[in-house]
Amino acid sequence: MGNSKEHIEFLNKLSNILCSKISPITTISSVCKLFKTTLNIERMNFVIWDDNNMMLKDFVQDCKLYDDCQFKEINFSYSNLAEKDGTKFYFNETEFDCEIHQNQLIDIKELTQEQNTILYPLIANGEVFGLMNITIKESSFDKTFFDLINISSKLISGAIINYLLNEQMEISLNFYKAMKDIAKIIESQYELSYIIPLIGEMIDRFMSSHLIYIFIYKNERYKLVWPNACKDKNVYALLEKLNVKKEYVMSENSKIGVFPIINEEHILGAIVAYSNIEKLLQKDIDYLVQLTRQSGMTIQRANAYAEVLKYATMDALTGLNNRRQFETRLKQEVSNSKRNNTPMCCMMLDVDYFKKVNDTYGHAAGDCVLKAVSEIIKTEIREYDIACRYGGEEFFIILPQTNIKEASLVAQRLRKVIEEAKINVDEAGLENVKYLKVTISVGVCEYENTMSANDIAQKADKALYEAKETGRNRVIVA
Ligand code: GH3
Ligand code: MG
Ligand code: MG
Repeated sequence: MGNSKEHIEFLNKLSNILCSKISPITTISSVCKLFKTTLNIERMNFVIWDDNNMMLKDFVQDCKLYDDCQFKEINFSYSNLAEKDGTKFYFNETEFDCEIHQNQLIDIKELTQEQNTILYPLIANGEVFGLMNITIKESSFDKTFFDLINISSKLISGAIINYLLNEQMEISLNFYKAMKDIAKIIESQYELSYIIPLIGEMIDRFMSSHLIYIFIYKNERYKLVWPNACKDKNVYALLEKLNVKKEYVMSENSKIGVFPIINEEHILGAIVAYSNIEKLLQKDIDYLVQLTRQSGMTIQRANAYAEVLKYATMDALTGLNNRRQFETRLKQEVSNSKRNNTPMCCMMLDVDYFKKVNDTYGHAAGDCVLKAVSEIIKTEIREYDIACRYGGEEFFIILPQTNIKEASLVAQRLRKVIEEAKINVDEAGLENVKYLKVTISVGVCEYENTMSANDIAQKADKALYEAKETGRNRVIVA
């Protein structure tokens, strides 16, 4: 490589490669190729200091670690160059100034062999954070060569730091999103059986290298509540070591961490991060401590909320009657009908494939659907009809003074209005989805004189089951 036009072209190509938004592996391999073809470099790789492992590692995904025993030399060189704040580099184990002087070039010439090694510092904010490790055949090591290496090292340092910061920022963003999501669940949900899987999924999504288990502590035992199975005996042994004073307990090999969910002075449960391959890093531990604390607060509020709701009559999410109130009202209406010998009908509704809505668009969108369906129910029924949310995505409507013909018309109308509705899911904050559409299945039945409240509810449920079995989005009259 001779003239300055070629040098500019080289630097131009290098910065183009470094600016392109491709994976670090591809970037690095393009950089190496460019160095091979223009500077005759045989082999080069980049090692960076890893604070978590306190070790050098290769800067590519699934990076190889350079432990002290096996890679004594490079570790030693790295500490030396780091001490010199990036002003020096090694040429065949001898130190030179990065801003190289003419007279040093004479020394380099003397050191030159058939095969040469250059260790050049990577610097950010005046600190050495890694090395370029270059193997090169005998060549004309002139000032231009080292100037090009110097400028390249700066460009490459910038690109690597940029990548590392982005990666860190993404992790932080995911972490804050998980924290926010966990805090948010409770706004409308209060059943632990519903909350815990959500918390589990949120932490699971955040922790990519470890499995997450959630245990609830009850009757002096830890019971796994999410997901379905945990067979590892070590986990149970670690759980036994927990107490309210401990922030967390780790397995000896640091691959399993157990984090207690604590409410004031009591253990409510525990969140376990499990792997049989990877250690939990201090960073992950810090995150998990915070996520567990957040989960503890959410679970505690859910418990308190459930206690309050025992006395409530309204479902918090939809504003309809809750299940308890439904049971009371159904009994009243049954006895009214019996006494006055008036007709009465009952219908049970269930959103079709609702799980898919949650799985595809998230639970917040699912909640929007439940609220919208409830609003439609409220507007489509008469004032003295009684609508309630029975559970999840199931609704009951009691229609006093109504015969089966009228009731099935109401059911058909509801089914149609819901089928045609464009449900606004803005609240869920999805990027590309504004509206969703769902259908419902309905089972309708009429009260007969000998029936109990329970009988009529079961009859509606059976008709609903048939509506599901025969294809959904339909009304079946029992
Ligand atoms: P089918 O057509 O047979 O009714 O299928 P489905 O998917 O609607 O029925 P399934 O019973 O399998 O799923 C109901 C889902 O409702 C599972 C549960 O996670 C979800 N769910 C329960 N309560 C709530 C809630 O309050 N909000 C949200 N978003 N989802 C809920
Ligand atoms: Mg359903
Ligand atoms: Mg259901």
